[in-house]
Amino acid sequence: MKLTKQTLNQRTNPIYDALVVGGGAAGLSAGIYLQRYLLSTLIIDKGKARSFWMQELHNYLGLPPKTPGREVLKQGKSHYLSLDGDYLNAYVEEVIDEGETFSVKVRIGRNNPTYEVFRTRYLIAASGIIDHLPQLADMKNVFDYAGYNLHVCLICDGYEMRDQRVGVVGASESSLQVAFPLGWFTPHITLFTHGAFEVSETLRDRMTAAGYTLNEQPIHQFLGENHQMSGVELADGSVINLDAGLISMGSKYHADYLQNIDLDYEGGNLVTDIMNRTSHPRIFAVGDLKVGMNQVVIAAADGALSATQIWRDIRRQEDSRRKPVAA
Ligand SMILES: Cc1cc2nc3c(=O)[nH]c(=O)nc-3n(C[C@H](O)[C@H](O)[C@H](O)COP(=O)(O)OP(=O)(O)OC[C@H]3O[C@@H](n4cnc5c(N)ncnc54)[C@H](O)[C@@H]3O)c2cc1C
Repeated sequence: MKLTKQTLNQRTNPIYDALVVGGGAAGLSAGIYLQRYLLSTLIIDKGKARSFWMQELHNYLGLPPKTPGREVLKQGKSHYLSLDGDYLNAYVEEVIDEGETFSVKVRIGRNNPTYEVFRTRYLIAASGIIDHLPQLADMKNVFDYAGYNLHVCLICDGYEMRDQRVGVVGASESSLQVAFPLGWFTPHITLFTHGAFEVSETLRDRMTAAGYTLNEQPIHQFLGENHQMSGVELADGSVINLDAGLISMGSKYHADYLQNIDLDYEGGNLVTDIMNRTSHPRIFAVGDLKVGMNQVVIAAADGALSATQIWRDIRRQEDSRRKPVAA
């Protein structure tokens, strides 16, 4: 059921089999599989999933290529709820390992928040990441285009940018390297440092050899209308016309609530085995938060894998408890 501050006391499970942090593609998929394995599940989601920001899902088998991410989430959430999973819109602040269970501290509501503690045998970290965006004086100007033709994901949208004039906005020299795989799709590439960092001679030489243009001025604003970016205006007032943009500025990893637990990370991503188990035997990580490809199809598959492994674990534990003691 959908839990609220008012209905929290109606929940039936004092200890869930699995608590999923995050209700994006990965978390919802895990929840659907867990409920279908007859395990008790709670998904806690604070909203604003990366999937929600995705205006068009271009590459998911069986869905029309312009399906908005919010539709995938809406359908996934109602599917999960139809299987009697519990769902709470709230923010997970802290997870404490109690040995056989975890206690999960949750903040409910923004204004006048209340706090609740849930207990679970297994935890699935499906809390994703969020892309850093260029910081302009007017951030609405960035939000007007980000996720439309101001892309954040080369794998998702390289095809959409084929033969277009593309501006790549980086946050560091290494983040600008995305221009080279982008060159597979289009040769018309301008790189923007937004005045934030120096570019080495080596990279300048590689860019020149590839035919790319480097621009080191701060960006004043993106130009365009109806969510279609058509260029950038630089700090000195000059304008560069573009057909699309690619932001490559790194991400924030949503894993603060795990800080008290010793887990293996690679960069900000959690390291897992092939069933998405982390270095802790009862914590799984799925979707963008774990090492791997940031794609909806992978997130959905991750959810299935983690739920299946949790079912196997629990089933084996119950079987061994039920085994008759040898005479
Ligand atoms: C603009 C854009 C376009 C994209 N296009 C495509 C595409 O065409 N094809 C494709 O396959 N992929 C695309 N992607 C990538 C795709 O959106 C992600 O790979 C996918 O959404 C990851 O799903 P997830 O469940 O791991 O994370 P998310 O969808 O980000 O879900 C994580 C959820 O956890 C919540 N959360 C975080 N911290 C907490 C907390 N402490 N407590 C409670 N909840 C928390 C978040 O708010 C969020 O709702 C695109 C992404 C973007 C941004």
